[in-house]
Amino acid sequence: MHNAAVAPERPLTFPGPPSGRPSLPPVSDPDALRFLADATDLLASSIDYEATLGSIARLAIPKLADWCIVDELLDDGTLSRVAVAANLSEKRDLLEELRRRYAPTWDSPQPAARALRAGETVVFERFDDAGLRATTRDAEHLDLMRRLGPRTAVAVPLFTKEEPIGAITFAFAESERTYGPKEIALAEQVARRAGLALDRARLLRREREARVQAEAAQKQMAFLARATELFAESLDYEETLERVANLAVPRLAEWCIVYVVEEDGEIRRLAVAHADDAERRSAEEHLQDLPLDPDAPVGVPRVLRTGEPELVREPTLELLAGDVQDPDRFVATLGDVRPPTSWMCVPLVTRGRTLGALAFIASAPGRHFDDEDLALGVELARRAAVAIDHARIHRREQLARVEAEAVRERLGFLAEAGAVLSSSLDYETTLERLAHLAVPALADCCVVDVLGEGREIRQVAVAHVDFAKEQLVRHLEARYPTTEADPRSPVGRALREARTLLFPNFAADRDAIARDEEHARGLDALGLVSGMIVPLIARGQTLGAMTFLTAESGRVYGEADVGLVEQLAARAAIAVDNARLFGEAEERAQAARALATVGDGVLMLDARGIVRVWNAAAESITGLEARAVLGRPAEEAIPGWSAVHHLLPVAESSRSARARAQAVPLEFGGHELWLSFSGVGFAEGTVFTFRDLTEERRLEQLKSEFVATASHELRTPLAAVYGAAMTLRRDDLELGDERQRMLLTLVAEESDRLARIVNDILWASRVDAGELDVQLSPVDAAAVARRVLDAAGMHLSPGITLSLTADESLPAVAADDGKLGQVLTNLVDNAIKYSPDGGPIEVRLTPGRGTMLIEVCDEGLGIPAHELDRIFEKFYRLDPNLTRGVGGTGLGLYICRALVERMHGRISVASEEGRGSTFGVELRLA
Ligand code: ADP
Repeated sequence: MHNAAVAPERPLTFPGPPSGRPSLPPVSDPDALRFLADATDLLASSIDYEATLGSIARLAIPKLADWCIVDELLDDGTLSRVAVAANLSEKRDLLEELRRRYAPTWDSPQPAARALRAGETVVFERFDDAGLRATTRDAEHLDLMRRLGPRTAVAVPLFTKEEPIGAITFAFAESERTYGPKEIALAEQVARRAGLALDRARLLRREREARVQAEAAQKQMAFLARATELFAESLDYEETLERVANLAVPRLAEWCIVYVVEEDGEIRRLAVAHADDAERRSAEEHLQDLPLDPDAPVGVPRVLRTGEPELVREPTLELLAGDVQDPDRFVATLGDVRPPTSWMCVPLVTRGRTLGALAFIASAPGRHFDDEDLALGVELARRAAVAIDHARIHRREQLARVEAEAVRERLGFLAEAGAVLSSSLDYETTLERLAHLAVPALADCCVVDVLGEGREIRQVAVAHVDFAKEQLVRHLEARYPTTEADPRSPVGRALREARTLLFPNFAADRDAIARDEEHARGLDALGLVSGMIVPLIARGQTLGAMTFLTAESGRVYGEADVGLVEQLAARAAIAVDNARLFGEAEERAQAARALATVGDGVLMLDARGIVRVWNAAAESITGLEARAVLGRPAEEAIPGWSAVHHLLPVAESSRSARARAQAVPLEFGGHELWLSFSGVGFAEGTVFTFRDLTEERRLEQLKSEFVATASHELRTPLAAVYGAAMTLRRDDLELGDERQRMLLTLVAEESDRLARIVNDILWASRVDAGELDVQLSPVDAAAVARRVLDAAGMHLSPGITLSLTADESLPAVAADDGKLGQVLTNLVDNAIKYSPDGGPIEVRLTPGRGTMLIEVCDEGLGIPAHELDRIFEKFYRLDPNLTRGVGGTGLGLYICRALVERMHGRISVASEEGRGSTFGVELRLA
């Protein structure tokens, strides 16, 4: 039963409690019995088990040991040295040191641990140096033991009913006694009593502890319940935070700080509570300018990052200052604040998110947080987090509601403004109405200024809650006009810088704005409080500015107001821009319409000579389509342009004098056109207008040719008549009858020719004057033709034969007998005239459907195809080379066509050069 080994051979594992209590050998020695009785009394008398065990230890000396140690086995397997006693005081000191530094654990080599492991008494019969080594842990331990100098020892485990609860070690040293069976038996008896006492003391202790714990738990529960209740009372965010902080003080700490992670990630200190009001103020002052460093490796930021609570029992100042951005300042500003004695921090976590943290700071001297405090802090934080979360949601909802309301109001206002702005394209009226809409909703006074084309500023709208002041605003503008360049003008500055200017406190800027004393007095009379100037900007262009002013209402503008007025200004700017664009578009459209409809051709060249405008008239005059011309250099697109353009007069657009037009010939599609150009130069190029003078020019030419021909035509017969008359009048010349008759015939014929020329001229002027008197009646066309041919046959040139081809009893035509005769005479005369080599001339009458065709055919010179449609024109004559110098006025066919048309008929020609011509007159039947 007694294990007499110095080092036990059993494995160092817990063997489990021995089954049942070992039966002890009886103690019969009266001395020992007395000793045991004393021990029993002693142990029964006390419930303070530490004191009890101390007494036991002392009791054993000197009877059972020179020194003695009592160890208690704790729940975690360590041994706690609950009592030591020694005969010699120096050994007691050594034992105290031993107890402090080398408390055994379950698996230590010390005797007590061995006895516990063995579950029975272990006797160390004789300690030598090797034995000491085997039962110590290190050199210092060995040294201590050497000084204690045990010779022999007994370690006895202490049992409750079932389990080992400790051990008692007895040792003989200086007395040089040894443990024999008697001593061992006594030691075991003492140990049994000590075990019982220890067990009882433990139970008592546990019970006491449990009661303390229950009380503490109850207090905590009450505290936490109160916390929950308090938190539930308020949904106000700030108030909730205050409550959280206040609740912790002073129950948990001297002061408490609530940190909150805002939605933007910033960590803010939102509430500070302190047991002492004065200290709270100093603490708040101290913390005021000490922002946290969110990346700090210690303190609150670390708790926020890890989500784990932290406790620093005895923090240093450096550690406490470790989580602010400026640790030196933290220390320097501590001032009156009592330095913390303990610190802990717990995260505020709910729904998986860290909302912030609670920091608890103890500053009462000697107060240090322990795990229990931390656990309570965690519990408090759990409840606080829920409350803060609710308050946050509530606040967000409220903010959202307020915001929604504000948004609704703004949208309402902007919608109204939109309606005003889109109601009219006259932007001045629109802006006037907009200014009135803004007063008093947004301002006490609203002014709209608009930049003109020369960047001059015009005040187009003024609205003021007070009409008299509205007049004053206008008056001030008239007296001190706003200009963009004026450094004193705030509107000028807003326009120059193209950005919104906010004057929250107008008084501060009054002196910088006033131009002189009088202006300053005017501004003072307006009593301005606050102002905003927003430029009107559309498509990157500053069009003007809107000024919002407050006075009577005392309203002060802030950044929040800027957003709304900028939106309003953006809409107003679009309206102004639209109105201007519309105006310009209108102008352009009108110009385009004018260009399209004007009879003159319009050609616009830009500075590089590229054709930019080529209007419809230009197209129709020249036959060049716009798409073939536009965008190309004029020299390339307009044939002949390079040869003529330098001849064209160009007036300066700045001068009002118009350039004299100049006609130049240009050839288009094989036709020469005479175009009369006049140009105006402007900054971006030149505009030419031109008209087609080809006709006029030809007429002009024909006229001058006519004068030449007519005078020639008149002079020839006149000369002949004059010559004949002179010859006939001569007395000295004997003229035979034959000769006289010939001369008289000549006079008659040439007179007739003269008369016809004069007649033609007369008739042509009648045609021009529309004075043809035509009387339609049924006419026998064949009879008229016969009469004309008969007359022509009277003086026929040689080689000419005349014939009429007409059926018997042809229907009558609707005509003027005399005029039809005049037409046919002319056609037959031409046929004869233009058949200088003679040939047959036939007049042919062919009836058609409701018409009659009268043709005059010759086999004379003929007419070139390209001249066919021109011979009916006034004065038009073929080149005399083609007509072998046959004379004429070019009026005959012109008159014929006019007469035929007056008789509702048509005249036409078919001819082949050198082969003859056929003129046809088609008349309706009567
Ligand atoms: P004119 O007095 O020159 O004959 P007209 O008006 O009668 O004037 O005729 C115009 C031109 O038409 C003439 O100059 C002539 O060149 C041409 N012409 C008219 N009739 C004939 C014809 N039968 N044969 C050829 N050419 C003709």
